[in-house]
Amino acid sequence: MGLSQASSVACDDRTTDIGVYTGHLKIDGIVHEFSVRLCKLDKEGYQIHGNDGGLADGSNFKSLKSSYVPVSSIVSGAFAALAHDYYNEFHKALEGTSGYRTQSYQTYLSKTNSGAAAVGNSKHEAGLAIDITTGCNLGIKPGECGTQMDRWLTQHVGGYGTTPGGYGLTRPVSNEAWHVQMSVREIRY
Ligand SMILES: [Zn+2]
Repeated sequence: MGLSQASSVACDDRTTDIGVYTGHLKIDGIVHEFSVRLCKLDKEGYQIHGNDGGLADGSNFKSLKSSYVPVSSIVSGAFAALAHDYYNEFHKALEGTSGYRTQSYQTYLSKTNSGAAAVGNSKHEAGLAIDITTGCNLGIKPGECGTQMDRWLTQHVGGYGTTPGGYGLTRPVSNEAWHVQMSVREIRY
């Protein structure tokens, strides 16, 4: 299944369907636009804190942990399972900062944060990634940071493949230990 059909996949039961939004991702040099069904990680026992990615107010991009992050339906089950393992171990919601991002939010980040990807280059714009709070600095490889969350993610990420299509999770960005995204060898439009 390609991203152009992803919105036809239902949200996992452990998440809340908040509707269909627009996603962007550069594949083979072309920035594609497609529909993304967004699912919020807001149910008790399956929560991931973080901002809404610019959905609520296009002019207010402050990253406050006042809400729960939305992700694409195709990874909703994998992230719900990750959040539930955390809840079972620590009896609280998993802390993150960012899941799906609107194009305007990613544009804002790329202008104000030197580490943020250019528009179209971030898996967040397709709803395929969540930044989990690890306490690790930019430049430290996943698994080499040594904080409790870095160690916990190293143990747990990769163990999820229960979503439709069997997608699991991975931390492929070598200088961002907090970035968790859908594990794919080949992301197709
Ligand atoms: Zn990220």
